[in-house]
Amino acid sequence: MILGDLELIPLLDGFFRLDGGAMFGVVPKPLWVRHAPADEQNRILLAVRPLLVRGARTMIIDAGIGDKMDPKSCAIYGIDRARDLDASLAAAGVAPEDIDIVLASHLHFDHAGGFTTRDGSGALRPRFPNARYVVRTAEWEDATHPHERNRASYLAENFVPLMDAGVVDLVPGDGPIMPGVRVVRTGGHTMHHQIVFIESGGRTAEFAADLMPTTAHVSEPWIMGYDLYPMDTLAFKRSFVREAIARDYLVFFEHDPVVAAGYIREHEGRRRVEPVPV
Ligand SMILES: [Zn+2]
Repeated sequence: MILGDLELIPLLDGFFRLDGGAMFGVVPKPLWVRHAPADEQNRILLAVRPLLVRGARTMIIDAGIGDKMDPKSCAIYGIDRARDLDASLAAAGVAPEDIDIVLASHLHFDHAGGFTTRDGSGALRPRFPNARYVVRTAEWEDATHPHERNRASYLAENFVPLMDAGVVDLVPGDGPIMPGVRVVRTGGHTMHHQIVFIESGGRTAEFAADLMPTTAHVSEPWIMGYDLYPMDTLAFKRSFVREAIARDYLVFFEHDPVVAAGYIREHEGRRRVEPVPV
């Protein structure tokens, strides 16, 4: 997928499952189940889709769940990495050594799990040996000082070893990360959750991360129960989706099991996503 001077390649680090009720917050099950069928444990299927951006540098935005989850967690979350990030990167012709920048939307395990890996001796090390890892300063603070509500999502093994290795660049606010790529804080899901705008050749693509994890979440009240500040999600999404429709943004959906990217359309007050083949 070409956007001006940049090449965008949606990657896949397999699939996992989360409780459907938690994924759709206040939306009643008879409505959400039409979009996302539930299994016998009420879980719905979600994909894990980091995005590769090739331009002045080679960047990956988020890096999936990774391979460090214990068997119990793998069962709870239904983790299926039969098609994992290594295979996906190889298919794109990119080796882990080629990645210059790893950009974090936030540090939850389904986004940062692939930031580190265990070497032969069991020690944790950066998964991308030549990369700088770019994390928003306040998100780093929150992830390293978890509380009862977010502790299960922030696993220190995914990011603390990066700081020990000296490969983290903390970025205090909104702004450019490399030519054509900038971050904007949304709040909502976590206080400092951020999305990524990719702009080149007069076109805009946008990596929505957990602001809108699936295409079903483009409707304003469809907000995850996981979000710490759902009214902030609502406020950001309300203005952002209008902008995305008006300006024809290509939106990447990190957790949609079917649609990696598409354009949001609105007709007679109903929103849908027109998928783009990838
Ligand atoms: Zn997520």
